[in-house]
Amino acid sequence: MSAPPSEHTRLARLAQDAAIRLEDADASDVLRWAVDEFGDQLCLTSSMSDAVLAHMVSQLRPGVPVLFLDTGYHFAETIGTRDAVAATLPVSVRTIRPRQTVAQQDAEFGPRLHDRDPDRCCAMRKVEPLNRALEPYSAWASGVRRDESPTRAETPVVAWDARRAIVKIHPIARWTQADLDEYIAANGVLVNPLALDGYPSIGCAPCTRRVESGADPRSGRWAGLAKTECGLHA
Ligand code: SF4
Repeated sequence: MSAPPSEHTRLARLAQDAAIRLEDADASDVLRWAVDEFGDQLCLTSSMSDAVLAHMVSQLRPGVPVLFLDTGYHFAETIGTRDAVAATLPVSVRTIRPRQTVAQQDAEFGPRLHDRDPDRCCAMRKVEPLNRALEPYSAWASGVRRDESPTRAETPVVAWDARRAIVKIHPIARWTQADLDEYIAANGVLVNPLALDGYPSIGCAPCTRRVESGADPRSGRWAGLAKTECGLHA
């Protein structure tokens, strides 16, 4: 059941204040605030490109829920990374699935909907499942970074997601790829093998390509189409 409007107002103000106060804070301080403020009302999402955020949060709050959207189209390496994260970190990995299997979607909408109408495919296989999975929580942390693409350049450290009525937290928004690499090396964090093989951004297999070294990290997503985001972080 969703929170009453007065609670939404309180959370929205909390997010606005935190966005200003924490803009220059270290990622660990942002996460400490989130854990203290939201406790078991906090979850995080992971695309399983790496386990950086899961590693960071699990140090502060063992057992934290890590939501993973299994669209049915993932690379085997991504599923393997999810399983490795669940086996090696003190987190609770929760796999979220769409209402329809790929076969059921193909039967209703025809095969390869991702080629013909990727927005609709993402809406059914990513956005709706995520919205459903986030309902029990007041706050959601994700690993979105400003340097990933021009569309993410204005990502706030903390924001009120009015559409989903949830506080959204981006602890590593200000990090660069070099910061991420440094954290991974210093802490021995799990990384999806594809990230070391030309895939700086990893999504569903039909919609993800290798990118040239130095190119926009997200240019391999929906390559050749105007689409740049799946709608999760819109
Ligand atoms: S990324 Fe591609 S396959 Fe995955 S949900 Fe979106 S359109 Fe479908």
